Amino acid sequence: MFLYIIYLVIQMTITFKTSNKTKQMLEEFYEDLKREKTPPYAVFQAVDGDSIVTLYESGKVVFQGKDADIASEYWIETEKINSGNVSVTNSDNKSKEKSNLDINKYMYVNAVGSDEVGTGDYFGPIVVTASYVKREDIPYLKELGCGDSKKITDDKIKEIAPLIAKKIPYRSLVLSNTDYNKYHNSCNMNKVKAILHNKVLLDIMDTNPKVDYIIIDEFAKEYVYYNYLKDAKRVQRKITFLTKGEDKNMAVACSSIISRYLFLKEYDKLNKKLNITLPKGAGVEVDKIGKELVNKYGQEILNDIAKLSFKNTEKILN
Ligand code: MG
Repeated sequence: MFLYIIYLVIQMTITFKTSNKTKQMLEEFYEDLKREKTPPYAVFQAVDGDSIVTLYESGKVVFQGKDADIASEYWIETEKINSGNVSVTNSDNKSKEKSNLDINKYMYVNAVGSDEVGTGDYFGPIVVTASYVKREDIPYLKELGCGDSKKITDDKIKEIAPLIAKKIPYRSLVLSNTDYNKYHNSCNMNKVKAILHNKVLLDIMDTNPKVDYIIIDEFAKEYVYYNYLKDAKRVQRKITFLTKGEDKNMAVACSSIISRYLFLKEYDKLNKKLNITLPKGAGVEVDKIGKELVNKYGQEILNDIAKLSFKNTEKILN
């Protein structure tokens, strides 16, 4: 409860790098205010009035709270004296702040998280993955460079995804284009996503993982999501919906990478079969290649390699 209240009132984050001398002084000063638990790579975390102070092994110190400016003021002055200069970051930008808070809250936890790829690509399948990441797996995954798959190159994905898959439990579903085109007649893209997320989440939750949170990278508001599933036999509940979830939670990040990996594998197979490099996304290049393929193989080919519900279909066939 105490923690929760702190999260509500935090408005500011002030960060700067300390010299060894200031680091030592901080340690002595906060000796009695230290929390029992420290985040990974931190020397300590302490509660100072309405602020939380975290000193990292690297020397970085972070003050968070509605009076973080007051709590940090003395230390910024001290650092100036000890090392001659100090470079301070003060992020009181609201959305960035919210995002930082989410990272603090959802990063170092035991969680099942799910994410999907392929929903913005005309060619290729949709892949949804749910993974289970334990707190103690996080340093290793960070070291691998786990994060948002959209920010990682395809080569890097191919390198780290098998290592992640070896380390953590996960469940993936690949929805082929043929199946998507069958499905989509009766429901929209977000409903398809909801059904797939629900399946992989139920699958992995059936293995009884010990979780603090079950997280979905948000693609629909909570009530809309559950509404999509109103006819499902079983529905996974108690889900936390996070925007940019792959930046805030490691299980979502891993799911994003594994999904991307499986997507790329399917994509490579398609390319090989057609002896062509299919463009990603849904832009004009997609229309151009689509027309070439239809000329060569007839329009039935699209049913097997593309998502017919996209506007591209009309443009390709006209
Ligand atoms: Mg996503």
